Amino acid sequence: MTDTLEIEINRIESSRLNDVDFENLPFGKVFTDHMLMCQYTNGQWSAPKIMPYGNIPLSPASSMIHYGQSIFEGLKAFRTEANEVVVFRPEKNWARFNASATRLCMPEIPKEIFVEGLRQLINLDRAWVPNRSDSSLYIRPFMFATDALLGVKPSETYMFMIILAPVGPYYPKPLHLKIETHYTRAAMGGVGAAKAAGNYASALYPAKLAQEQGIDQLIWTDAKEHKYLEEAGTMNMMLVIGDTLITPPLTATILPGVTRDSFLTLAREAGVNVEERRISTDEVVEAAKAGTLREVFGVGTAATIANVVKITFEDQTFELPAIETRKISPAIGEKLLRIKKGQEEDTHGWNITI
Ligand SMILES: *Cc1c(COP(=O)(O)O)cnc(C)c1O
Repeated sequence: MTDTLEIEINRIESSRLNDVDFENLPFGKVFTDHMLMCQYTNGQWSAPKIMPYGNIPLSPASSMIHYGQSIFEGLKAFRTEANEVVVFRPEKNWARFNASATRLCMPEIPKEIFVEGLRQLINLDRAWVPNRSDSSLYIRPFMFATDALLGVKPSETYMFMIILAPVGPYYPKPLHLKIETHYTRAAMGGVGAAKAAGNYASALYPAKLAQEQGIDQLIWTDAKEHKYLEEAGTMNMMLVIGDTLITPPLTATILPGVTRDSFLTLAREAGVNVEERRISTDEVVEAAKAGTLREVFGVGTAATIANVVKITFEDQTFELPAIETRKISPAIGEKLLRIKKGQEEDTHGWNITI
């Protein structure tokens, strides 16, 4: 591929690569040698620059700090057996990033800067893409307001950045989730469908309360009645009742996951009966009692699939069927992961090669 976008590159003097223990990578704590930065001023984006990873200067009056004008994305690059580096559906993340930007009253970023920028940054730091088939390079694009002004109004200047973090294997410990019926993640008309920084801050306290009861994460329900399931922690959620794969529809309170979309596509192609519809807490309790609730799992970039083995609703806890008995989540999840790693034919043209 040719480099279509001119990016000024200021290389690090000596790489930190040899200091990193790739066998023991904590999630999101180790970053590659370089980062990408691009500024928005006077109504336009400047040429992006790649420079050594490091701290950034910030005005203490930045409206990102005070009023939370800040959004992000998360995706992964894998090293294939043929030693190529591939990234899964970056254009989907770019489109979602711009949808988040619009909702937070921030400028859209051109596809060239987002996709070509991450391609060139990963290419420069490609030695950091882990070799182990159970590891990957996590890509974090983000944008925040940089005006130094305490008035509450949209900032006129912004910073777009991309940082990269090699990440180790995700050992999916089966989850115990609680259906949350008091706190709310997102309400109709709110920002639940945007990957906005504030959504994650407001979810920390209810999650902490659940963790104090030995529960791993929450199943969020609708803000109005706390009756319909929405998401599982920071993942989209799916259930198998009988032989049908069911997931909540994409409304303004649900983050439209790339994993969700890819999983549903593969499931439909495999002939699975898929329903995108509301699921009530009553339906879940009834199915759990009748033994027809076969699978519950979360889907997202970090884990691909996170199995749920226990669900607490009010004062009842339901044990779900053993993971070995499950059919849909392991089969489709494995297929999706193999496509991402270049181990299976990518018939949808989802991967781009760096
Ligand atoms: C990022 C995210 C997801 C999953 O999206 P993917 O594109 O599949 O990684 C789901 N829910 C929330 C709240 C998220 O922030």
